[in-house]
Amino acid sequence: MSIAVAIAGASGRMGRELVRHLSLSPGDFRLCAAWVGPNSRWRGRDVGEVVGAGVQGVVFTPPGEVVGGCDVVIDFSIAQACPMIGEAAILCGAAWVCGTTGLDQSGETALARAAEFIPVLYAANFSPAMAVMEELVTRAAHRLGPGFDVEILELHHRGKSDIPSGTALMLGRAAGGTNPGRIRATPRNGDEVGYAALRGGRVPGEHTVFFLGDGERLELVHRVHDRGIFARGALAAAQVLSLRSPGRYHIGEVLLTRKN
Ligand code: NAD
Repeated sequence: MSIAVAIAGASGRMGRELVRHLSLSPGDFRLCAAWVGPNSRWRGRDVGEVVGAGVQGVVFTPPGEVVGGCDVVIDFSIAQACPMIGEAAILCGAAWVCGTTGLDQSGETALARAAEFIPVLYAANFSPAMAVMEELVTRAAHRLGPGFDVEILELHHRGKSDIPSGTALMLGRAAGGTNPGRIRATPRNGDEVGYAALRGGRVPGEHTVFFLGDGERLELVHRVHDRGIFARGALAAAQVLSLRSPGRYHIGEVLLTRKN
């Protein structure tokens, strides 16, 4: 039986990528709903016609339009919509795979509330190599200790609105920093993690974590060349979550094959 997927943010960069990837595995997945913003110019248009991925009979609708027979909601939309999409997933009785970044407290609360009723997985980054980088950053911070300052540089396409990226904040937490840390280009103060962001072009996402010591430095770098990597990770998460009980799950459990 194929897994019925509703995509929140279906007309966006990530949503379209997901529709394309989903349509490559018709035996595993089928699109049951394509949710867009209330003012989207795509509302009412056929998904296949817009994305051109061979999907038929599904039109772009607002997230409030709950569908029956939905197994998983995959959400790459905007932070403000997170609570509404969580409620829609609960009403559908579907698992919720959420990749939207820039969440505020209401988004965090929505994830926690949903996990009482349905399986929930939140990840700021659905790339397997980034899941490994998170582990490496934790290990490097632990092994190098407070003598090394941590600075994080990220580069994304011109359309990205949240700064710093959700992935940069996740890496900062992995390095032992507290968010939000030092975001603007201001003098370093104690052992805070510093963030810097560049925006331009079509770059899907690059992150460098610097461990700056006296006389040496370590740099851990991750570059995404193709945002299909995020789509494949989210669909892998959807497959796993469709079989799980309510609760919170971590991306490492889904994407990484070995624990140590
Ligand atoms: P985008 O701007 O291209 O698309 C946004 C989508 O959200 C559109 O379909 C739009 O119609 C929809 N939307 C807008 N307002 C809405 C509302 N009120 N309710 C429901 N839907 C609404 O954005 P994008 O580049 O596709 O990125 C989407 C999100 O995914 C961002 O938060 C981005 O940072 C994040 N992202 C996460 C990962 C990851 O691996 N976790 C990877 C890439 C992007």
